[in-house]
Amino acid sequence: LIIKRIKIKQALNKSGLPDLDYALNPYVGCAHACIYCYARAYTRYKEVASNWGQMIYIKDNLIEVLTREVKRLKKGIVGVSTITDPYQPIEEKERITRNALQILLDSGFQVSIQTKSPLVIRDVDILTRYIDKVDIGFTITTLRDDIAKIIEPNAPLPRERARALSKLADKELNIWLFLGPIIPGVNDGKEQIEEIIEFAKNIDARLYYDFLRLKPEVIVSLRTYVAKGILSSEAIEKSRNIKWRHELKKLITNLCARVDLECQYAFQSDKKPIDKKTLDNFFTNSI
Ligand code: SF4
Repeated sequence: LIIKRIKIKQALNKSGLPDLDYALNPYVGCAHACIYCYARAYTRYKEVASNWGQMIYIKDNLIEVLTREVKRLKKGIVGVSTITDPYQPIEEKERITRNALQILLDSGFQVSIQTKSPLVIRDVDILTRYIDKVDIGFTITTLRDDIAKIIEPNAPLPRERARALSKLADKELNIWLFLGPIIPGVNDGKEQIEEIIEFAKNIDARLYYDFLRLKPEVIVSLRTYVAKGILSSEAIEKSRNIKWRHELKKLITNLCARVDLECQYAFQSDKKPIDKKTLDNFFTNSI
């Protein structure tokens, strides 16, 4: 892992995501190295984007900049984080996320945290103090460790995430579970989805879900797994299939209704999936 310290001019960025006013990303890049991660498509530093999972830039002066910004910016909801995992391993030592949360919450901002790491439990003292201003989501794509090891090679295992989310539920924090991305032939089976829905219901977590997003940068990453025979190009192609998406939406809605669980497609205003010609261009002669 290559680690570098950088200086930034801005800590809070306007967010284009629904329900968020700002985004705060303490790090550039993410050591969890999920093979489907499309955060790389939004990462300004090209060398980090193209070596995803192997390079991390620490925003060394983030706390200093944030301290100034919270005094002049309009209060709002801050997504922590949108293009990195705020609790990836380096956070244990750096504590930028922890300090940023403290500043944001002390200054009247709300925070919406999304992670795959139980390290968030460390900050429960701050989060419970501002219980009405915080929501926390865990991404759980599958509860099967063997599958997670392939698609999220360096992230904590799903069972560890599930345990951490249960602990947050016990603290009566506002929690949710993000089931995404759903990838054809990997985690789109009824049984796998059912396990996650049952777990969410047990701990009373709202459920959001999303499908594989085929950004060009993601295709480049997935291509190496197709070459190794781990994924098939047909499966990837299927992720843009409207009928497949429609059937899954129906399945998830029905499974959630059966156990009376609140569930929602994460991006209602979804753009059209990548077109076939572009997809073919990426795969033809390149594997
Ligand atoms: S944890 Fe999130 S940001 Fe990090 S690699 Fe995985 S999908 Fe990307």
